[in-house]
Amino acid sequence: SREIRLKSRPVGEPVHDNFELATVEVAALDDGEIQVRNLWMSVDPYMRGRMTDRKSYVPPFELGKALQGGAIGEVTASNDPDFKPGDIVSTMFGWREVFNVSPKALAAGGMGAVTKIDTHGLPPQAFLGVAGMPGLTAYVGLLRIAALKDGDVVFVSAAAGAVGQVVCQIAKLKGHTVIGSAGGPEKVAFLKSIGVDHVIDYKATPDVVAELEKVAPKGIDVYFENVGGVHLEAALNSARPFARFALCGMISQYNETGKLTGPPNIIQAVGKSLRLEGFIVSNHYDLAPQFLKDMAGWIGADQIKWNETVEDGVERAPDAFIKLFKGENLGKMLVRLG
Ligand code: NDP
Repeated sequence: SREIRLKSRPVGEPVHDNFELATVEVAALDDGEIQVRNLWMSVDPYMRGRMTDRKSYVPPFELGKALQGGAIGEVTASNDPDFKPGDIVSTMFGWREVFNVSPKALAAGGMGAVTKIDTHGLPPQAFLGVAGMPGLTAYVGLLRIAALKDGDVVFVSAAAGAVGQVVCQIAKLKGHTVIGSAGGPEKVAFLKSIGVDHVIDYKATPDVVAELEKVAPKGIDVYFENVGGVHLEAALNSARPFARFALCGMISQYNETGKLTGPPNIIQAVGKSLRLEGFIVSNHYDLAPQFLKDMAGWIGADQIKWNETVEDGVERAPDAFIKLFKGENLGKMLVRLG
């Protein structure tokens, strides 16, 4: 089985040389173990944080070891009565083709889980995107953290990405005016096709702050923050009194090597009585059952559509990951195996 290991820690933007491809023998199955062949792997922006050796809400990746991340696989052999060949499972073993794991030992060790997935007719990779962690992140951020309420005008950055595309559509199906920001004409066209009211192509706009003022003349009530920097500055500038900011991520800062700078107009949070609240989706898994129910309904009613960008083969995982920081993904970035 082949796997991708972290060879060196990126300084600034991640590059190919930070990764290496290795081949390992997969042992015969032990008692209680199952063998999983990954079908789809996820690459996610938060992995950049884990490539740096520092304290965070998840421990750093270890050099010389396979990168961990969300994946969907198929059980190919099983010594655990709860799993049988052909079961589709979600795991966090990440960037490798085939592996053995003992689901019970894993659960007992508090090391995450092997979760059997009933796909309900959806393609399995949807559980890495719209019906998986990014979809739940959109749901939690918008409905719990920002506490979306009638009449809110919603602004979303990285709007054409895995999380952003779901944020836009949940807000639309609940009847809101939505403003999305993304880079490039293809993303703009996609966002318009899913009903986003105003799209800012921030790469073609010299002044994001002025552009947001123009498309939201009465201001915004909710900001779903994925990017940081000038997008946060624009949101603060256009915020109405009592606006709520769900701080989901700030990808424009993940590769910064110098001192990070905050938005120069943060003081507006005081006078406007803004609420800025960060969140990590894994602290909100209690909402997962409700999310899956709602999402199944929305997809069934054709109210949520999604895009994905696919790289083929485990050896392409570093490319897929690097592309996230260049904006070369439309919707969820995925690696297809086998
Ligand atoms: P995306 O699918 O949105 O991919 C990343 C996108 O970010 C790119 O396509 C690009 O879009 C944009 N981007 C990259 N670099 C920059 C930059 N320098 N300035 C502006 N935009 C940039 O990723 P996800 O949907 O998986 O994640 C979106 C955000 O949500 C990230 O910040 C991530 O860290 C965060 N997140 C947080 C979670 C939580 O629990 N808090 C869980 C999951 C994700 P474009 O072409 O438009 O620039």
